[in-house]
Amino acid sequence: MELQLQPILLDGVPPKRPIVIAGPCSAETEEQVMSTARQLASKGIKIFRAGIWKPRTKPGGFEGVGVAGLPWLQRVRQETGMYVTTEVATSKHVEEALKAGIDILWIGARTSANPFAMQDVADALKGVDIPVLVKNPVNPDLELWIGALERINNAGVKRIAAIHRGFSSYDKKIYRNLPQWHIPIELRRRIPNLPIICDPSHIGGKRELIAPLCQQAMDLGFNGLIIESHCNPDCAWSDASQQVTPDVLDYILSLLVIRKEKQSTENLSALRKQIDECDDNIIQELSKRMRISREIGTYKKEHDMTILQTDRYNEILDKRGSQGILCGMHPEFLKKVFEAIHEESVRQQMEIINK
Ligand code: PEP
Ligand code: MN
Repeated sequence: MELQLQPILLDGVPPKRPIVIAGPCSAETEEQVMSTARQLASKGIKIFRAGIWKPRTKPGGFEGVGVAGLPWLQRVRQETGMYVTTEVATSKHVEEALKAGIDILWIGARTSANPFAMQDVADALKGVDIPVLVKNPVNPDLELWIGALERINNAGVKRIAAIHRGFSSYDKKIYRNLPQWHIPIELRRRIPNLPIICDPSHIGGKRELIAPLCQQAMDLGFNGLIIESHCNPDCAWSDASQQVTPDVLDYILSLLVIRKEKQSTENLSALRKQIDECDDNIIQELSKRMRISREIGTYKKEHDMTILQTDRYNEILDKRGSQGILCGMHPEFLKKVFEAIHEESVRQQMEIINK
């Protein structure tokens, strides 16, 4: 299904890359919200985030201030002119947020993983024209993420963006949530005009990782960033270790190198021509290899041999892996390439044998 999308404009114009959304993980008190918001506005931030309903992994944690936080967000809007956004997870949240005039809604990772919850939120959004940001589901399932986006789009919402916040894993060594960049990259390939916003705070889980993750997202051509920022991060009631002060946020943003997405210089076209030639040659050689492989298939059939000759397969993987190191390539990379080639060879030989 193709999504019917319209661009999300800020003050009537398409925002410059990156669109930045910043604010605390949670709205805690009116003072904390206002102080953070004023500082962020003074740094030129245009969209303010704060969670008022907080999905927590275990009971007993801070579950958000609830509807009491909505007037604080209205105050942010009035006093700073920033757009405001909060997380919604149920139809009731949607109704309350819309009643309070929240500008943009986001859907959290635990909600986008649950089709029933997604449909409930989507039903509450029928006929409502508000931008909706859909975080990736906690599990690395692109189809589930696209399904969540489709449900929102089917409700008639056209201003939609995706938020990449990483994926849960048992092993939390470096990242709180693994980035698995190939998933948002594939999302971009499948739905090219869908803006993608990176959430380095929830991917990294710690302050030091925010700057490099932001840069990576920009280098991959993502459209925006959603970053948790708090006036006093160490005392935050949720996600303290990943929040940064508005000052630090401003510093991180000032260091970002934003490369142009399309910059076709002559040099680049010449290099790309060379790459195209290499790719042509690779395909020619592969096709020659497959022809030989089919001949081997015929031989195996005539001599009643099995297709899979494990010793020979291991020999190829080892030999090519070490050769790859000498040529400056990662052995795992060449192993993957030869596994794929071998799989296709086996498939072609099966065709011969079964003829
Ligand atoms: C959040 O943005 O504060 C949040 C709860 O995020 P996620 O749904 O990505 O865990
Ligand atoms: Mn958070």
